[in-house]
Amino acid sequence: MTLAGIGYDSHRLQEGRRLVLGGVEIPGEIGLAGHSDADVLVHAVIDALLGAAGLGDIGQHFPDTEERWRDADSMALLAHVLDLLGERGMTPRNVDCTIVLERPRVGPHRAAIRESLARALALPAERVNVKATTGEGMGFVGRGEGAAAFAIATVQEQ
Ligand code: MG
Repeated sequence: MTLAGIGYDSHRLQEGRRLVLGGVEIPGEIGLAGHSDADVLVHAVIDALLGAAGLGDIGQHFPDTEERWRDADSMALLAHVLDLLGERGMTPRNVDCTIVLERPRVGPHRAAIRESLARALALPAERVNVKATTGEGMGFVGRGEGAAAFAIATVQEQ
């Protein structure tokens, strides 16, 4: 059986923080604030996978009140979630996602982000689609206050 799940996340932009999207560090003056490395894209993908598997959400598995998740590498959290799926005989089939960020522009890094996510998910790059858009100057993204990400994942249950 194929199961689908959605994910959404947002994080505040802050000077002096790293900007990590899909496990790829994007150089610049500004990054995302959060308890972990604030990889907003991986957090959305994790929630999509957890959703497909019926396993709740990222906050239940990695509470931001716990010291051990401070500055956590979100790719390690993703690996943990894939283990949870694997224990239940579930494997990801495809992921599609959208990053919403005014600047820096994601376009030049899109291929690297896709490769990074595909490697982490053990999927061919064609099964991992990464899209990027801006807020067109509107809302918290448009004002440069933060970034958001949406994801959908399908999971095959044996
Ligand atoms: Mg998050």
